[in-house]
Amino acid sequence: MSVRDLTILGCSSQQPTRLRNHGAYLLRWNNEGFLFDPGEGTQRQFIFADIAPPTVTRIFVSHFHGDHCLGLGSMLMRLNLDRVTHPIHCYYPASGKAYFDRLRFGTIYHEQIEVIEHPVEKEGLVDRFEGFTVEAYSLSHGVDNLAWRITEDDSIKFDKEKLHSAGVKGALVKELESAGSVVIDGHKVCLEDVSWVRKGDTFAVVIDTKYTKKAIDAARGAKMLLCESTYLEEHKDLATKHLHLTAKQAAEIAKQAEVEKLILTHYSARYKDVSLFEEEARTVFPNSFAGDDFMRFSFDR
Ligand SMILES: [Zn+2]
Ligand SMILES: [Zn+2]
Repeated sequence: MSVRDLTILGCSSQQPTRLRNHGAYLLRWNNEGFLFDPGEGTQRQFIFADIAPPTVTRIFVSHFHGDHCLGLGSMLMRLNLDRVTHPIHCYYPASGKAYFDRLRFGTIYHEQIEVIEHPVEKEGLVDRFEGFTVEAYSLSHGVDNLAWRITEDDSIKFDKEKLHSAGVKGALVKELESAGSVVIDGHKVCLEDVSWVRKGDTFAVVIDTKYTKKAIDAARGAKMLLCESTYLEEHKDLATKHLHLTAKQAAEIAKQAEVEKLILTHYSARYKDVSLFEEEARTVFPNSFAGDDFMRFSFDR
């Protein structure tokens, strides 16, 4: 089975610290490598994390503040250097096209990889590709900023015992799956009689916003929510002023959205100990974890 995990490549906000790099997050899911908000130095963080950059298949930029995109150009150049043969899909708010282009073509290099851009004009369905759906939700951060919701397709799982007792085997199984029913010895066997539907999992990313219902909508029922928590409640006034969240507010979003697990990130440089964020969030949503550079969180079924 393929790897399914989230690697925190950096967890600082605007200003990196000695221990925390600018944010960047890699979600490995089936055959995809989703890279979110590659901040400055992301390329090197891959080396420390012992993950090959060509793992990346799709890059998502929530908004064009530097801590969310300064590593975009160097990641594309690195993938070019590594001569990746698969296309690299890039999703970003359409109003940031000029920033995207400057980052992509900021230095001299001969681009040979295929970059497929998905500038997002409005929230809603953004893309569908093999096994996945991507949706975007507009956040409230003073600039165009998108939350991402990625959902795996539902899949049909056969009940082996029921298949056996219905006499469905070999090529008939494929036929049943595609046609919805087969006739065996005069008896009709329907797909739903011998199978069940496994609901696809959802992963949501909410980074840089004040408290908004849109964040809850984006995260609704997700298996995992990666959410910013720039401040602790003691600095809630700063969170309000700069359109960010506290750890407690992130936990409230997770609770309202009924997610399974909350991962916190994007901490202000003023805090030394990120465990305080976890403590604060757990008072509202117990299954909260403070992400830190190079931490990995399993995203297993
Ligand atoms: Zn930020
Ligand atoms: Zn920002």
